[in-house]
Amino acid sequence: MDDCLFCKIIKGEIPSTKVYEDDFVYAFLDIAPQAPFHAVIVPKAHIASAAEIDENNSVYVSKIYEAVAKIAKKENLEKGFRVVTNCGEDGGQTVGHLHFHLLARRYLQWPPG
Ligand code: 5GP
Ligand code: ZN
Repeated sequence: MDDCLFCKIIKGEIPSTKVYEDDFVYAFLDIAPQAPFHAVIVPKAHIASAAEIDENNSVYVSKIYEAVAKIAKKENLEKGFRVVTNCGEDGGQTVGHLHFHLLARRYLQWPPG
């Protein structure tokens, strides 16, 4: 999608610090980290939000979780981590391209507030 921030990051039109990449997934460091380790993991297809996942695109979700496990091993996140997807206005989503936050290297409160 031409005017989508994360599509531009995937294409390299906007610079990012890559954490992981494969045919389905791109992951990069968040520009405003909420934890000492904060990556954003996105599908390489424009899916607007978690509300738009269906039988035609859900393969991206499993590929993202495969990427989570690989990143966690590579980054030595054995103490744990959190994966969060914000969806829509009340969910706090600010970029309209499905993405998963991978947060780690501090104790993460629950419930998140
Ligand atoms: P959301 O608020 O939609 O759940 O998450 C969007 C995330 O994208 C935020 O954590 C925000 O800091 C991050 N973000 C927004 N613009 C950029 C950018 O240009 N580069 C990077 N690396 N992260 C960004
Ligand atoms: Zn997009």
